[in-house]
Amino acid sequence: MAQRPVVLVVGGGYVGLYTALRLQKRLSRGRAEVVVVDPQPHMTYQPFLPEAAAGSVEPRHVVVPLRRTLPRCRVVTGAVTGLSHAERRARIAPIEGETYELSYDVLVMAAGSVARTLPIPGLAEHGVGFKNVGEAIYLRNHVLGRLDAASSTDDPGVRRRALTFTFVGGGYAGVEAFAELEDMARYAITHYYPRLSTADMRWVLVEAMGRILPEVDLDMAAWTVKQLTARGMDVRLNTRLESVTDCHVRLSDGDEFDSDTLVWTAGTKPNPMLRETDLPVDERGRVVCEPTLQVRGMPDAWSAGDLAAVPDLTKETPGATTAPNAQHAVRQAKRLADNVVASIEGREPQPYRHSYAGSVASLGLHKGVAQVYGVKLKGWPAWFMHRTYHVSRVPTFNRKARVVADWTLAAVFRREVISLGQLQDPRREFVQAANTGRTGSLPPPSAEDKAQSGTLRAS
Ligand SMILES: Cc1cc2nc3c(=O)[nH]c(=O)nc-3n(C[C@H](O)[C@H](O)[C@H](O)COP(=O)(O)OP(=O)(O)OC[C@H]3O[C@@H](n4cnc5c(N)ncnc54)[C@H](O)[C@@H]3O)c2cc1C
Repeated sequence: MAQRPVVLVVGGGYVGLYTALRLQKRLSRGRAEVVVVDPQPHMTYQPFLPEAAAGSVEPRHVVVPLRRTLPRCRVVTGAVTGLSHAERRARIAPIEGETYELSYDVLVMAAGSVARTLPIPGLAEHGVGFKNVGEAIYLRNHVLGRLDAASSTDDPGVRRRALTFTFVGGGYAGVEAFAELEDMARYAITHYYPRLSTADMRWVLVEAMGRILPEVDLDMAAWTVKQLTARGMDVRLNTRLESVTDCHVRLSDGDEFDSDTLVWTAGTKPNPMLRETDLPVDERGRVVCEPTLQVRGMPDAWSAGDLAAVPDLTKETPGATTAPNAQHAVRQAKRLADNVVASIEGREPQPYRHSYAGSVASLGLHKGVAQVYGVKLKGWPAWFMHRTYHVSRVPTFNRKARVVADWTLAAVFRREVISLGQLQDPRREFVQAANTGRTGSLPPPSAEDKAQSGTLRAS
């Protein structure tokens, strides 16, 4: 290995950020150069996205700026579009300018996962995912924008469509987003929309399996369904989305209705960029790893997190691998960084071992469900545990303090429920003004303009 090896970290999410943080602490600049490549200039603390969408936390506070947190690493804002580990070369597409190649000595593959979609008619045109902060901000503005639209029309069809919110996928990301956004909309209608009633809203969660929240026991999942149903929400188990054409949703149970909102949270798959690499992948497209997090048969290549198949040493089932979640990602990152340092120093890497502690999920303000080390909590205690656990986990003291400040301010001044719909298309007004200047009159609204009024057709 080179005197001063270059460690290339692909992705600055959970695994990438935590690995780089540890490497910059344990390896001085003279010993190695750590290069972190990510299309975003920040890490996203995804478990806070539902609260960011619901307005309990400022969206900027759920992301951690890479350059500020990693002052001793080189941060490249761009995407790795492929690599040959045999040649130790990666192809990088910066956010601006020509693609170039970067030579490295040690690889950490941590590019995470992407939404797993199905070829459902209309899904790509009408759906939105829930994996990044842009989507969380968009949904918050969109849901509030739909309340504004419903409150400002007398057309019952438009109203019903605007107030019908459809979510597909009952894992923790989907259930939390569904429950948090409903809670926010309910609060907004109760306090600020006298022309609307909470009974006018229809929230539909569609799940193909016979249960939601596979991360907790069946009784806790059933309790959650009961809670959501008691709030007037419609949870459809053993049901699939068949199509969504012109905002018309069709389900496999025969039901169909109009809905301006379709959120897709039905699972993830490993980053497809892996196909452009020579790293070994399993039948699910994940990088095949040894228990030490080394990529199988590839010296100096390491991987962890959502896109890695890491043997789960705590389970007796042959071939068991760790689940794609933050709990494993954070711990794997620490083990991975220590093993990279060990291999640079000529020591043996150690295997990763962690038994899953459980899950905490928030279902709106003061509501939650949790199962940690076998202890089952419901309602307020679960919600409180969700908040304390995640604030202890979000990286950097700066972010912890800001998140706590957001919660405190929301408790004192009520939660912020204002739609900043202009964020979805900030240039629209200016372009219209410029066009008016050219023609002397206001152009009639185009179909696109109309769609920009808030429905997902504009997304
Ligand atoms: C809404 C939501 C809520 C969640 N809540 C929980 C929870 O409560 N508990 C829990 O345990 N888990 C939770 N998770 C799952 C958890 O966030 C993931 O398991 C974790 O983020 C995985 O870490 P990772 O580093 O593998 O991927 P990520 O954190 O997603 O990081 C991947 C990084 O790679 C970057 N990247 C992508 N493509 C490229 C490329 N071509 N080149 C370079 N970089 C690239 C991305 O921009 C990203 O920054 C939640 C997920 C979501 C979406």
